[in-house]
Amino acid sequence: AQERYASIRDEAATDKTGVTVGLHMNAGLMADLPSLESSGAEGVGLFRTELQFLVRNKMPQRAELSALYRRVLDSADGKRVAFRTLDIGSDKVLPYMKPNDEPNPAMGWRAIRVGLDKPGVLRMQLQALVRAADGGPLTVMFPFITLRSEFREAKAALDKVLAREKKLGHALPSSVEVGAMLETPSLGFAPESFYEEVDFISVGGNDLKQFFYAADRENERVRRRYDTLNVSFLGFLEQVVNRCNAHGVPVSFCGEDAGRPVEALCFAAIGFRTLSMRPASIGPVKHLIRQVDLSEVKQVIDDARESGVQSVRRAVSDYLVDQA
Ligand code: PEP
Ligand code: MG
Repeated sequence: AQERYASIRDEAATDKTGVTVGLHMNAGLMADLPSLESSGAEGVGLFRTELQFLVRNKMPQRAELSALYRRVLDSADGKRVAFRTLDIGSDKVLPYMKPNDEPNPAMGWRAIRVGLDKPGVLRMQLQALVRAADGGPLTVMFPFITLRSEFREAKAALDKVLAREKKLGHALPSSVEVGAMLETPSLGFAPESFYEEVDFISVGGNDLKQFFYAADRENERVRRRYDTLNVSFLGFLEQVVNRCNAHGVPVSFCGEDAGRPVEALCFAAIGFRTLSMRPASIGPVKHLIRQVDLSEVKQVIDDARESGVQSVRRAVSDYLVDQA
């Protein structure tokens, strides 16, 4: 099987009718970067910057971070890297930060909430990213955006950093793309203008699913209880894709489910044109997409929904068995 995937490594994930889905990889450590080449990923759709903070025993300095991000960009060799700003709190607690005793850390003071309330660290990280871009393109995404105002505030912080860097005589990035991670249902219902202001949206399916179903992603008793391919969740995702399409906003899915072939196929069928996943999943997902007609898969999904099932998984699996 590995060889089969190797043979399509440099091919696109194009279905039988010519629809192409961009497959990107998730990363977080320097050690992940060689997979960019070996997996055939088009870029890094999610770079989890908190991992660099978590492996240290003290807060990293700006120069150190900047050098590190520069190395990431160098090894990406022109491929796009979407840097997600610090997502701490919840399950990721920095050893050198005062722990917060929160009854529900996943729904607590985490990610962009920390970044906006304590802007020093966010500013330092944004500066490090701007310097690392060194006059080249820069892609930044903010985690756990729940309201339009949070996105505006985070983007304003970036704009301020850019203005300051300019004043200091540093080269500004040739282009700056600023995205939001959609990880709470609320953002899916944000006012229209949010979709006009954002450069791209990346659906963080791990958190989104946890909050959509109110089922803790860390809790073994409930984490597999609700199907990703349940019509409710799929319907919500489809609405998000449609809203993004209506505004010409690129939308990707970067949760773990993007690396599961049947799930990935369904996401592509409802309109996602970019998926980001573990590098090892790229081959299997690409292989499957290349075998099918995505509009047929969409029809299977629609027919299943029409028939009143709770999940489309069975229908899609049966369709795939028939295809084989
Ligand atoms: C997600 O929530 O789906 C996501 C990609 O971010 P993380 O898994 O790091 O929370
Ligand atoms: Mg998340």
